Order: sequence, then C-alpha cells, then structure tokens
Amino acid sequence: MIRIELSWAVALYITFTAVGFIVYWLMFDRTKSLPNRSLSERSVWQCSICTQYYIDSKNSQISTCPRCGSYNKKQSNLPQKGVSR
Ligand SMILES: [Zn+2]
Repeated sequence: MIRIELSWAVALYITFTAVGFIVYWLMFDRTKSLPNRSLSERSVWQCSICTQYYIDSKNSQISTCPRCGSYNKKQSNLPQKGVSR
C-alpha cells in the first residue's frame, strides 16, 4: 500500500485534473478546423413562379420547385449574405 499525505493527494488530484482539462481542450480546439459544412449558396434556389426559396443540392442547372412543381433555371440574383434590403 502506498502511503502519502493528504496534501500530496490533493496536489496530485488537482494536477491530474488540470492535465485532463488541458488535453481535452487541445482535442476540442482541433475539431474547430473541420471543413465548413454549412449550406452553400449554390444549393439555394428561388422559384420563378411562386417565388419560394428552397434547397436542392443535387441539381446544379435546372431544379424542380417542391411547392408548385415548376422547373427553375439557376439564377444569380439570390439575396447575398450580409446585404440588407
Ligand atoms: Zn414554385
């Protein structure tokens, strides 16, 4: 059996806890550099008939509106991020 004083036990406990937090922090900090998987502007469509905005990431040229079923061609006049109307 290992005999240590209470102050040493507390110091070891605090040290290992702090090391654990630092290791966890470093691991968590690495996950921030994952690729951005947010919605790209290419997959946002606006229907020319019912003016509904919808998302279609499969098609790049012509897409079908989920509300009215009409075919839409890709336009570049979608509202951009950070631009106020
Ligand atoms: Zn539509």
